[in-house]
Amino acid sequence: MVETAPPATAAPNLWEVALAQFDAAADRLNLDENIRVVLRAPKRELIVNFPVRMDKGDIRVFTGYRVQHSVARGPAKGGIRYAPSVDLNEVRALAMWMTWKTALLGLPYGGAKGGVVCEPKALSPGELERLTRRYATEIAIIIGPERDIPAPDMGTGPREMAWIMDTLSQHVGYAMPAVVTGKPLAIGGSEGRAEATSRGVVVVAAAAARHLGFDLAGARVVVQGFGNVGSGVVKLMSQAGARVIAVSDVGGGAYDPAGLDYEKLRRYVQVTGTVAGFAERVSNAELLELPCDILVPAATQNQITATNAPRVRARLIVEGANGPLTPEADAILNDRGVLVVPDILANAGGVTVSYFEWVQDLQEFFWEEAEVNSRLERLMTRAFDTTLALATRERVSLRLAASMLAISRVAESFLVRGLYP
Ligand code: GLU
Repeated sequence: MVETAPPATAAPNLWEVALAQFDAAADRLNLDENIRVVLRAPKRELIVNFPVRMDKGDIRVFTGYRVQHSVARGPAKGGIRYAPSVDLNEVRALAMWMTWKTALLGLPYGGAKGGVVCEPKALSPGELERLTRRYATEIAIIIGPERDIPAPDMGTGPREMAWIMDTLSQHVGYAMPAVVTGKPLAIGGSEGRAEATSRGVVVVAAAAARHLGFDLAGARVVVQGFGNVGSGVVKLMSQAGARVIAVSDVGGGAYDPAGLDYEKLRRYVQVTGTVAGFAERVSNAELLELPCDILVPAATQNQITATNAPRVRARLIVEGANGPLTPEADAILNDRGVLVVPDILANAGGVTVSYFEWVQDLQEFFWEEAEVNSRLERLMTRAFDTTLALATRERVSLRLAASMLAISRVAESFLVRGLYP
């Protein structure tokens, strides 16, 4: 049986969105047409169809992707996503965004993304392990510590990274921790990596709030998503003194204007598997329209659209997910004066600590959590300040400014390297 993607929905094609964003920034930069054609094209795209033995004994064929958008500034870098809706265009867009993300943060990487078309919740741990090890083997021809370094994304985490690390290490006969990041600590993972994306979101949210004249302490925060990114945002926002009034996951949302207690919520989710039912029920759609100071969409793409953007009542949106706003929603929110911190800046904390993890693996010398967190804070703050300064000077959105900064850096690396042959 072949695992196929569900029928296309009306949601915008993410690759077209990424290209349109690129074109807007390139226009504003007056970027040479010759450089545009290079940066618009993903460098390498690998599609693999591979068999996996299921628990019942039958064999299913899964489709996986690994796209390397750019390796101009260093090895390709980016996560691996397990979801039924994964397709080549989505992986391309996410790979391109990784190129801009690493350039914006000044990390010596290009951009990549991988994905497998599957519903991880419907697979047993054994099936997931066999799928992961076989997918890792299929993409082994293009990944490696100096070539392309995967990491977690939606539907994957430290467990999958450990399987990938082990599989590739078995192939060469020695431990190769630097081939993947987001690993468990026991095999060369980094302190602070698990929460890094969330921590970065909170650091830039604090900086953006300060810019708007308010403080995280006492701010009302709404978080969509309670996974790799959202759960850490709820925790760290609460620690910063913010009042998290609503949170949701695929099962629905919980709302309490007096604020949700993170520890109690975490224990509730451990037992029930969802945040829904922890407090007053709200749907995911209602949650996005709650009055609040900061809205953090940390679930998936295309959540705020032309339909609901006019009803969003946040002052500040910080994109924990990749591509949570459609371009139409982005324009509407800009016109309405809502400040949006774009994904390539807001959620770059994950890849930043992935970089620290890779550096530690290569040096075989490990840092304490305080050092990881303070270096993360420094890089995120610097990227935010630089982006805000350009946005202010050019009178453009933070999204356009972030893209302009990132694209000009990648373009420069292409120019100084020159065209071979
Ligand atoms: N998947 C994460 C992202 O979208 C992390 C990537 C990485 O650490 O390489 O940024």
